[in-house]
Amino acid sequence: MHLRISISRRRLKTRIARCFSASISDGAAGQIFYDRDYHVHLGGAIPPQLIEKWIENNDISTDVTVPDIVASTRFVHPVVTVRDALIQYREAIQMTNKLAKKHFCQLTTTQNLPTFLTMYRAYSQRHLLHEYAATIARDEFMHPKADARVSLPVPNDISSHSKRCEMPREYANRAMDEMIYFQSSLLPTQILFISIPHQTFNKYKNHDYFDAFIDLLSERKNDLSTNLVSAPMFTNKQLSFDFAGQPLPLSQTVQPVSKLRNTFPEAMICYHHGEVCPGISFGDRVRDTFELLPYVNRIGHGLCFGLALLNLYSEENGVLKDKTTIDRATLEVNRNLALQCLSIMAQRNIGIEISPTCNITLGSAFSPDVLRRYVAAFLQEGVHIFLGTDDPAFLNTT
Ligand SMILES: [Zn+2]
Repeated sequence: MHLRISISRRRLKTRIARCFSASISDGAAGQIFYDRDYHVHLGGAIPPQLIEKWIENNDISTDVTVPDIVASTRFVHPVVTVRDALIQYREAIQMTNKLAKKHFCQLTTTQNLPTFLTMYRAYSQRHLLHEYAATIARDEFMHPKADARVSLPVPNDISSHSKRCEMPREYANRAMDEMIYFQSSLLPTQILFISIPHQTFNKYKNHDYFDAFIDLLSERKNDLSTNLVSAPMFTNKQLSFDFAGQPLPLSQTVQPVSKLRNTFPEAMICYHHGEVCPGISFGDRVRDTFELLPYVNRIGHGLCFGLALLNLYSEENGVLKDKTTIDRATLEVNRNLALQCLSIMAQRNIGIEISPTCNITLGSAFSPDVLRRYVAAFLQEGVHIFLGTDDPAFLNTT
């Protein structure tokens, strides 16, 4: 992980608020932040104290290595032992407290983030979510009106050698029970977004399991009278989905998206797209968007459009470079493609979920100024903006 920028949360909020109040005629930029949290993951809202409590309650050995967790997320974070993570985390907390006393300020997110990410990767597995979903939903990190995203469980297929292989229908029932449980744990004002990780469900992986879940979901939707327990997922709330996780080329992931759209024409479908990531060139990410637009209501992050508009990327995986080293014609082509995407999005009412703290802290947006400039450009093109906190507990956003 490369951290490029350090900025205090208060300063960032002020800057972004200024950006929005300048761009939105009815003012009251503060309300935009607090009215609803449009992009938040339940797993990313687990407060650190709850992680510690869970470790104590379950008498977890702090010597256990967690390569399976790292492998399952496929992120290139260092493989750490649980004990290391815990030590680092406690040191960070102590340091925060000392600094807070001395300077009456909080440690910047940049310093906390790697530790929290490590903690998160190490501990925030599903049993933690299962045990504390209702507590997390009511915690300070979770907005009372949050679009709370929870991933579908990973199927126990032949490749997951440690577990018994389950049949697709069996998986669908398990996944459905989980989703009903999470829905019932949320506040009535919070909406469950069924999150579908790119790396778990795509053209090449687990499509039988995905199809079985979708079939079961539509059966339940069509037969609400006999399935009262799942009724809340369809009646007072809109059926909502979010495609997230490790970004993959769209040709691998568009199949499940189109299947969902065709099965549930009225559903809310969001898709994490356009984050700076290795393996997919920037030009491809912008071009790919055209394939995605027929199926989605909102795009998560959408950074590729912003950076393409500002000519702030190279073809090498979105790394910021001196633009004089980049072929001008390519820059212009991508800029025009981004403008076309935004124009279609404006016409079709497809919005972009911006998570400012996440994008700036992780370095994808480069700086608050860059973010301000491209968000203003999105608004100018008539695209709706939705603000989110993404993973509030480790980004320290509320
Ligand atoms: Zn997200």
